[in-house]
Amino acid sequence: MNRNPEAKSYDETISEKGFRFTEQRRAVYDALMGKRDHPTAVEVFMRVKGKVPTISLATVYNCLETLTDCGLVKTVNHDRESARYCPNLAEHAHLFCESCGGVTDIPLRAKRRAHDIWDLPPDVSISHHEISFRGLCPKCAKAAARQTTKCK
Ligand SMILES: [Zn+2]
Ligand SMILES: [Zn+2]
Repeated sequence: MNRNPEAKSYDETISEKGFRFTEQRRAVYDALMGKRDHPTAVEVFMRVKGKVPTISLATVYNCLETLTDCGLVKTVNHDRESARYCPNLAEHAHLFCESCGGVTDIPLRAKRRAHDIWDLPPDVSISHHEISFRGLCPKCAKAAARQTTKCK
């Protein structure tokens, strides 16, 4: 699990960015790192509340915004759903499961960059890209396969 660039301690990252980790920001960041299921702000709030009972939803939104501005966390938008948050800073795409609604990280194959895969015109300048797949996550795909076998 230590292959990702975010394996660097966050204190290090934070001091590089000249940003201070308050108890609340740390709790929000820990909640994202603890369970990497791309929670929404409300889900983060529910998790953090257990540790920091005085925290408000507005504070969680603020912390998430600061973490995003610092580049420690990425926002993931899908259709019209509320934004989700992802602390995986390695280049990756997202698989949105049409059955359970889960979001799975899909890493790029080693030593590949998006430019090697997509036939981008030579004169474009890409500032940011977001690739999404839709389908079934491994768990739902297995369940669906079992369902099909049962019906036979
Ligand atoms: Zn699923
Ligand atoms: Zn992600």
